[in-house]
Amino acid sequence: MEQCACVERELDKVLQKFLTYGQHCEQSLEELLHYVGQLRAELASAALQGTPLSATLSLVMSQCCRKIKDTVQKLASDHKDIHSSVSRVGKAIDRNFDSEICGVVSDAVWDSREKQQQILQMAIVEHLYQQGMLSVAEELCQESTLDVDLDFKQPFLELNRILEALHEQDLGPALEWAVSHRQHLLELNSSLEFKLHRLHFIRLLAGGPEKQLEALSYARHFQPFARLHQREIQVMMGSLVYLRLGLEKSPYCHLLDSSHWEEICETFTRDACSLLGLSVESPLSVSFASGCVALPVLMNIKAVIEQRQCTGVWSHKDELPIEIELGMKCWYHSVFACPILRQQTSDSNPPIKLICGHVISRDALNKLINGGKLKCPYCPMEQNPADGKRIIF
Ligand SMILES: [Zn+2]
Repeated sequence: MEQCACVERELDKVLQKFLTYGQHCEQSLEELLHYVGQLRAELASAALQGTPLSATLSLVMSQCCRKIKDTVQKLASDHKDIHSSVSRVGKAIDRNFDSEICGVVSDAVWDSREKQQQILQMAIVEHLYQQGMLSVAEELCQESTLDVDLDFKQPFLELNRILEALHEQDLGPALEWAVSHRQHLLELNSSLEFKLHRLHFIRLLAGGPEKQLEALSYARHFQPFARLHQREIQVMMGSLVYLRLGLEKSPYCHLLDSSHWEEICETFTRDACSLLGLSVESPLSVSFASGCVALPVLMNIKAVIEQRQCTGVWSHKDELPIEIELGMKCWYHSVFACPILRQQTSDSNPPIKLICGHVISRDALNKLINGGKLKCPYCPMEQNPADGKRIIF
């Protein structure tokens, strides 16, 4: 943290300089413009009168030219001065952070350089699509000659189109999407469609008494959700009583809260992503955040491994030498550790459920087979090893 603060201090200095420079620049240019404008007016009036250029005026003009030149030169040299502050930031970064972090793991852990580059580019492109920066993503695809097919892009394009409309408080595209995916959304226990209808209804309520009939007729959209959202529907119906007085002065004023719009964007992103099989957060930002937590630990481990001269400890490609706690946010899958071998199960050594219901890893099962029979280490029921079933979490 201290290192970050050091760099930030240098950064603040640069920003402050930029700010002062910007203000100074604007002021001098404005003064200059004003001066030139005045001179121009004088010249124009002289031209209108048809008088030849007086000696004074030509002197003023040459003075003006010199002034312009001087000001521009001064601004350019001031700008150059900022460069030294910018380079100080770079030096502060070099001084405070380790520049060589690739060495944390041995090269054998990674795929080939081309493959790495391709994976990284793909992750960046996906991140850009997810963040709605479509044109930047396209540009990167072109420059890196990455071939992203339309099927990959399509869901992101659609999500962004709908989200943009929602940010503009246009419910149309989102409602259309929710209605066409109604069945799947219900299976996900999603209340997206109801929330969208509710927002439309609230917007009608905000329109005052003249929208009452329209609101009432729109209320029929709530019918499919009557069982699940009974209470919320009752609240909305209750609010109709206050339509004439104005909803904002009623006990129902919370319905007009702008937070509903933020909430709908979140609900839409979450539910649409899970329906389309996309992660809500981009894999790149999750990896980056995890890397920030894991790297310092890995660097310490590397130092310890080198000190004790036991470089062979870290040989697995898909496993770190120690467990690194990334916090609950990064718990995506359940894990199962074999109670016999005390090892975490993996694709090559999956958990197997025996017919008695006890679960052990396949390696443990293979070790326990005796004369073609298996005796459960827990209950101890005798069974055919082939009857065990693989469990997928
Ligand atoms: Zn058993």
